[in-house]
Amino acid sequence: MTAPLIEIQRTRSPRPRPNTPDLGFGRYFTDHMFLMDFDPARGGWHSPRIVPYGPVAMDPAAGALHYAQTIFDGLKAFPDQNGEIRVFRLDAHLARLNESAKKLCVPQVDVALVSRAIRTLLAVDASWMPEQEGTSIYIRPIIWASEGFLGVRPAKTYTLCVILSPVGSYYASGAAPVKIWVEEKLTRAAVGGLGAAKTGANYAASLRAAEEAKARGYAQVLWLDAKEHRWLEEVGTMNLFLRIGDEVITPPLTDETLLPGITRASVLELLREWGVRVSERKVSLDEIKKASAAGQLHEVFGTGTAAVISPVGELGYAGGSIRISEMKPDSIAMRLRQAISDIHYGRVQDRHGWMTRVETLESAA
Ligand SMILES: *Cc1c(COP(=O)(O)O)cnc(C)c1O
Repeated sequence: MTAPLIEIQRTRSPRPRPNTPDLGFGRYFTDHMFLMDFDPARGGWHSPRIVPYGPVAMDPAAGALHYAQTIFDGLKAFPDQNGEIRVFRLDAHLARLNESAKKLCVPQVDVALVSRAIRTLLAVDASWMPEQEGTSIYIRPIIWASEGFLGVRPAKTYTLCVILSPVGSYYASGAAPVKIWVEEKLTRAAVGGLGAAKTGANYAASLRAAEEAKARGYAQVLWLDAKEHRWLEEVGTMNLFLRIGDEVITPPLTDETLLPGITRASVLELLREWGVRVSERKVSLDEIKKASAAGQLHEVFGTGTAAVISPVGELGYAGGSIRISEMKPDSIAMRLRQAISDIHYGRVQDRHGWMTRVETLESAA
């Protein structure tokens, strides 16, 4: 079988590039997007194409809108030291997209084709790569159920779309540790639910608690398990890491209530290489209260594609608060951030094979 051709329809009205300091996160989009449709009557996924960025027509009865049958992923492309574009852990992200697909009864995608689609899209919009240190292009693939049908069952037709957003540095304003609210009532995901899938439903479930935390003056929520409200799960939309004494701990994936982060996996791999004592184990709110009282809670941080490593400075809860000591340059969080960004921007050799180079259009064709 020959690989399907990706048709490219270029925009006639390229848009002005935003100023790098205004980029923020997810506010601007490049000139083009990738689309592909799924229809069993047409042999599955068909018509892969790159078209000008813009609104897509949708049947108002589409399953994605009513029953949230939709999944996404999020990954980043960076300029290396020669100005070439490389994507961080592209294959791992696409494998996860397929894992999310299984959990929501969405058809599997051909990883090789979507990988080529993303690389081609990046080549078409390469001039959108911002130039300042810490900036990147955020890549957002999404699949939605497109069939117009109100019965409750998996849809028969889907659309896969990839959009690109040039994004600024998360640390432009300094790596100030954030205040986090420990949410003891509302929950994000329960055992047997969708917690391990990257899907809009989990985000919808998280909004109210996040708004309430913001109203209390906190940046985000620390999620506890849905059953006992005891065990730490995630921090906002990031995976959670703690350093207690000389042990670095992250909650385990075994209950499938956590999103299996690619940053989490990368951090675990680096820490093990560095000979740091790491555990994937359950940690309770009680344990960290005690560790803090004993002066042993040295670091708390979140990991995720958007901010990479996000240090937590304070945990507030109904009965009090826990302060975590200031970030020191030799902290695990700062070392990880440096090591991962060195890999992103090609300042060190990519020993793990985590970076995928984007060919220029001529050599890709
Ligand atoms: C995407 C996501 C993460 C982080 O995953 P990465 O692959 O590291 O970006 C963590 N938690 C939730 C809920 C997420 O949606």
